[in-house]
Amino acid sequence: MNLRDLLINLGRLSPRRYTATKCGHRTKRTGRVSAFGRTITTKMPINENGSVDYCLDCIGKMAIRCAWCGNPIFIGKAVTIGLPADDFKVPKYAVAYKKNPPQFVGCLSWKCADVGAGRAGFWMPGKNGKGYVER
Ligand SMILES: [Zn+2]
Ligand SMILES: [Zn+2]
Repeated sequence: MNLRDLLINLGRLSPRRYTATKCGHRTKRTGRVSAFGRTITTKMPINENGSVDYCLDCIGKMAIRCAWCGNPIFIGKAVTIGLPADDFKVPKYAVAYKKNPPQFVGCLSWKCADVGAGRAGFWMPGKNGKGYVER
């Protein structure tokens, strides 16, 4: 293999970059997303324009923390919605799903503190660049 062939092959290997439709940043489709000390590898869906909606950085910024155990909840993850027990001190970072009665978004981890809550939906990118619960 000569140098020219090598460069062509490297070019094929390098992942395609997209300009995200909604946030406008350049991004790869697959990559690492970090939030709250946790990093995952994610692959974003292709939208109707043949691009992705958000860059990996913006996806990371939409991650939240579980109201019950504090673990990060990334975009695309299944979530629970639960009512806090009377003696539960709701942390500041908890994301409210409804205010009255107060319901909060939690993760679906088997070791999560919330009991009896089934999957309520998925944490997905919302219109305003923030995540929301898609049911
Ligand atoms: Zn972005
Ligand atoms: Zn949790």
